[in-house]
Amino acid sequence: MRKYLLLYILSAISIGLRAEKPQIIASCSMIADMCKNIVGELADVKMLVPVGGDPHIYEPTPSDAKLVAQGDIIFINGLTFEGWIEDLIVNAASKAPVVRVTEGITPIQSEEYENSADPHAWMDLNHGLEYIKNIAEALKAMYPEMEETLELNYQAYAKEMRALDDYILSKINTIPSEKRVLITSHDAFAYYGKRYGLQLEALMGISTEADARTSDMIRVSRIIKETNVPAIFIESTINPKLIKQISDDSGVRIGGELYADSLGEEGKEAGTYLGMLKHNTDVIVDALLNENYQETKLDTDEESNFLLYGFLGLLLVGGLIFMASRLIK
Ligand SMILES: [Zn+2]
Repeated sequence: MRKYLLLYILSAISIGLRAEKPQIIASCSMIADMCKNIVGELADVKMLVPVGGDPHIYEPTPSDAKLVAQGDIIFINGLTFEGWIEDLIVNAASKAPVVRVTEGITPIQSEEYENSADPHAWMDLNHGLEYIKNIAEALKAMYPEMEETLELNYQAYAKEMRALDDYILSKINTIPSEKRVLITSHDAFAYYGKRYGLQLEALMGISTEADARTSDMIRVSRIIKETNVPAIFIESTINPKLIKQISDDSGVRIGGELYADSLGEEGKEAGTYLGMLKHNTDVIVDALLNENYQETKLDTDEESNFLLYGFLGLLLVGGLIFMASRLIK
């Protein structure tokens, strides 16, 4: 009897522990990281599309439906970024409020499709500030007892965002204006380019649903020739095959890997929303500024070889002098 009582108490405690913290669901890794910064230890934050996944074409799993069913509040980007999410919420029979974090942002309209907005608004930190304001307001309304902590966290995070915004503006400014051309796999950088002053060209449109066509390959190759851009970029969530092919065909270097629709692995620089934007900026600026990257690398190699031979030479001469002095004695 006592054994059963103990089991009962233990399971009651575990249920109590599980229900203790609010369960926050975020559609993608960027929004999950923003939520974590706002709630700190006050709530559990779970994301649907895993790190490295592509939210445009994501296929939800049964465990996603379970997560959504257990969620107390759901944060999504909207602007058709997660086209699959409405069905998922209906299938999970969730009654949790759904908050669109892009609320209040004037989106960039798609050039390809009429009445279609570009979803990648987080790439501009001014919009990032709107995202976290929407998150903080929704959480304060739902959990008024947490209001003070949420506000403090929000203010501290907003300050970091403004500082990074200044950093990116001044860093991009170091690139000569004729070299400010950013060529990527898919059209995810329009907000970034508009805010920080880069001309954007992409192989694919604002979604990754449609494959790149031969005409897109020809268009991008022509732009590379016309602008004489020193580097093009691959993206962490997209197969780099076509960008590599363009790089081989036109002899332009791959400047590095950028993060647009997902954060990087946890613990790495791009593993947070702010880290991702800083990483992208540093990679872009280094690659567009440094036309002689390979030559510079060779120079350093030659320099270190020179030092090594010099050292060996000195050792040899020293040895000879030592032997000679011994012989003379
Ligand atoms: Zn995208």
